Amino acid sequence: MSNHWIALVPQDPNFVPDPQTHDGALKLFQAIAPDADEIEIKLSDKIQFFDCGTNFERILCPRCGQQLLLAWWQDRMGDDHDGNGFQLAKYSTPCCGAFVGLDELRYEWPQAFARFGIDAMNPNIGELSDEQRGEFERILGTPLRTIYQHI
Ligand SMILES: [Zn+2]
Repeated sequence: MSNHWIALVPQDPNFVPDPQTHDGALKLFQAIAPDADEIEIKLSDKIQFFDCGTNFERILCPRCGQQLLLAWWQDRMGDDHDGNGFQLAKYSTPCCGAFVGLDELRYEWPQAFARFGIDAMNPNIGELSDEQRGEFERILGTPLRTIYQHI
């Protein structure tokens, strides 16, 4: 038995939407995915990692497009985490020396770093449309990324 989640997180890792908007976002997700097992808000003082689980395929350098070694990335994830969350410091990629934060790497499937997220467990709706994401963006007042997590 496997589970999957659709998570929406701000494109800006530090952005936390106004608390008064959270309820509206929950209600919208309930309307879009009435069969979901659970819909919840994730809120943290420090930046957390929103991973894609077994949907993970590879990580690419945002400048030259070369695939990054998983071991290099795992070491940087360790360096960047202070025990409570991620700093998103800049690191030099081994391929071309691009100076980038972990949130700027190209993840396939997408993964993200954020203090705020809203997710639905087993939403049973396939993919979220651009229009649906746009509705969440209007309610929460910020551009969002969609993360599909499979575990
Ligand atoms: Zn590169």
